[in-house]
Amino acid sequence: MKIISDPLELKEHLKKSNSSVGFVPTMGALHEGHIALIKRARQENEIVVVSIFVNPTQFLAGEDLDKYPKKDDADKKICELAGVDVLFFPTAEDMYSNDEVKICAPNVRGYVLEGATRPGHFSGVLRVVMKLLNIVSPTRAYFGKKDAQQLNLISLMVKQFFMDVEIVPVNIVRDSDGLALSSRNVYLSKAQREEALKIPKSLYAASKLISKNILDTVKIKEEMHAILSPLEIKYVEILNRDFEVIEKVQIGNTVILVEVIVGETRLLDNIWL
Ligand code: AMP
Repeated sequence: MKIISDPLELKEHLKKSNSSVGFVPTMGALHEGHIALIKRARQENEIVVVSIFVNPTQFLAGEDLDKYPKKDDADKKICELAGVDVLFFPTAEDMYSNDEVKICAPNVRGYVLEGATRPGHFSGVLRVVMKLLNIVSPTRAYFGKKDAQQLNLISLMVKQFFMDVEIVPVNIVRDSDGLALSSRNVYLSKAQREEALKIPKSLYAASKLISKNILDTVKIKEEMHAILSPLEIKYVEILNRDFEVIEKVQIGNTVILVEVIVGETRLLDNIWL
């Protein structure tokens, strides 16, 4: 596995081959969720590139940028074992300069749900993903459904900027107790982790209601709130796949999304129906 930190060196390295390239952007502290993305990329492409970059522009002042989990050596081993060809490991200086041209998240879709409590977060995400996609020029780029709003906005960016890459959504990987895997789960104490299990429980309860043909979104959200309480709920939302509010669940075109804070840890989860 080749490790490259200079964006232009990576561009030059990838230019030499005509092979299909699968790309998995991450912020490191890799777990089975990331590995699922890498495996999928490995299956579908001749060359696999993974990036590890804790992108400063997507963290708001006071967020966990400085204490974001770092496991560089373990991450390198995981990538090597998963058959990654190139690991892109840039620094902030490699990626950003002063007074840059910027891309902004859309005014509505970038400022609802997670964007409502983290204004500007998705502008930072799109900014770095645009750079990464331009550096790697992948055939396909792999993103987890866990970050459903991020996936939606990146798909929009690729469409609206006529970018030449296929965005591949990958299903959420969960721990055996049902909690969606996240690099931030290491912040949770044992008791907090127990509390956090209310999140998958609330999503399971929603899918049970739906299986009984209870499709009214207000009713389903009430039931979910009751299960999640007294956790600090940022939102419980039921949307169609274009991220528009719906009154009734439409099977095949619905996402149920939850964000709660447990202790100081922000946890996201969702199901696609
Ligand atoms: P992150 O390192 O948290 O920025 O995540 C990098 C990529 O991995 C993103 O596309 C995430 O959506 C995806 N990802 C993170 N956790 C999971 C999970 N539990 N299941 C599937 N994909 C995930």
